[in-house]
Amino acid sequence: MAIVLYARKSIERENSISCETQLEYCKSVIKPDERNEKVITLVDNGFSGGNINRDGFQKMMNLVRQDKVSKVIVYKLDRISRSLSDFVNILQEFKTHKVEFVSSQESFDTSSPYGELIVKILMIFAEFERTSIINRITQAYAHRSEMGFYMGGRQPYGFELVPTVIHNIHTKKLSPLPAEIEQIRYIYEVYAQESVSLRRLMNILIAENRLPLNGSAWSTAKLSTILKNPIYVKADSDIYDYYERHGVQMVTDVSMFTGEYGAQLYGHTKHKPDNPDWSDMKLVLLTHNGIVDSDIWLKCQRKLEKNKQITNSYSNQTSWLSGKVICEKCGHTMTTIKGKINKSGEMRRYFNCTGKTHKKICTGTKVSIYAEDLENMVYDCICEKLSDLKEAKHITANDHSPEVNELKLKIKAIERSEKQLMDTMLTGGFNEDLLSLANQKATQFKNDKRALYERIDELKSMDDETDVIIDLAKSWKTADYNRKKEVAMIMIHQIIISEDGSTKIIWNI
Ligand SMILES: [Zn+2]
Repeated sequence: MAIVLYARKSIERENSISCETQLEYCKSVIKPDERNEKVITLVDNGFSGGNINRDGFQKMMNLVRQDKVSKVIVYKLDRISRSLSDFVNILQEFKTHKVEFVSSQESFDTSSPYGELIVKILMIFAEFERTSIINRITQAYAHRSEMGFYMGGRQPYGFELVPTVIHNIHTKKLSPLPAEIEQIRYIYEVYAQESVSLRRLMNILIAENRLPLNGSAWSTAKLSTILKNPIYVKADSDIYDYYERHGVQMVTDVSMFTGEYGAQLYGHTKHKPDNPDWSDMKLVLLTHNGIVDSDIWLKCQRKLEKNKQITNSYSNQTSWLSGKVICEKCGHTMTTIKGKINKSGEMRRYFNCTGKTHKKICTGTKVSIYAEDLENMVYDCICEKLSDLKEAKHITANDHSPEVNELKLKIKAIERSEKQLMDTMLTGGFNEDLLSLANQKATQFKNDKRALYERIDELKSMDDETDVIIDLAKSWKTADYNRKKEVAMIMIHQIIISEDGSTKIIWNI
């Protein structure tokens, strides 16, 4: 049996410590009772630690495999390998052949209790690197079947339940009903607009004759239930975050939140909207495709939460079309004035000719031009105009959101490893070597995360630069009052209202 002293000096770092000095350090940790043992020195001069194709190292491993070695001593851990998974494999092989392993600088000694603990931590790190993030994301696609099946409850609007077999279990899955799905999409789209309350949403649906296809009627409660249901969202990492933040137990791994599938919220007690405690609720990813983009879905959640606080405080008296509306008869601008409060408690505004009210010279517009109607009409016209512009400019969509989501998933995985590291530290007790190792790893996690965040910003700004029109068209659908006013200022020269109430838009572009 022999003690191997192993030294390696890399090519790239000239000022690193020489092999001779390394060996001196190694000799200094040979114990008094080992002095009589045979000592073999093996040296790799000018080799990187990035791989294990080194003559001296391979010689050492051969001796180990022939059970001729009792102990390996190095100056520092990284002399063995800079790759953590290689390092852990080597440690495993040492263990198999009952070789003790000692590092002179890190007082790393596999025969000591702390050494054991450090090995355990290294295993966790190596496991993290091996199964790593990228693998887990690609695996997510292969493991679709690991997603949950429908957890029961009433059949949600937009779907029917059809029998299926998952994991040899006969169960049911959601199958979309296209006409109802189209309504759901529309409901989210309309409600995501800044000025649309639940009541107004309901009125729009009724006015446009978009009634429930199952023969029932809309109510604000029913619409609110639909808007809160994650069954409809294309669940991505932002959705995972949203529920995790609310204390919901997450059943499906975050890596599966790829922005494709809907999810189901379920629990023992039915969740009440006003109950802040979500801790008995669980979220599972299902196998059907989501319908609504996560940003729109989340926007609706923010609105629902806000509306709980300020209900019926609809007080907007002006219009985002103000200044653009002209009376055809007299050529004066038309401004909004307050009307009566209607049955549903809303203040109606309508456009009135200033030539009539202030100057008494106009005999035009005998019909009431309700601001809401005119706004809705112009809103639709701008929608059309924007989509025309989009096509005319032949702008190809250059959407980076799948890549951004993937990056967010990587950040999540790192955060999880950080937590794992903390837990290990807390249960493992304190030791200087342990702390310095953990600190190194924590710094690496931090840097990796920063790099990922930078890449996300980069991608987002790329999207901003290339997709101005697409962005405008998209944001128009969810534009708030000020944004609408801005766009109207740019696009519209005048809106002319004739005596019989018919309108003509004169465009700037
Ligand atoms: Zn007039």
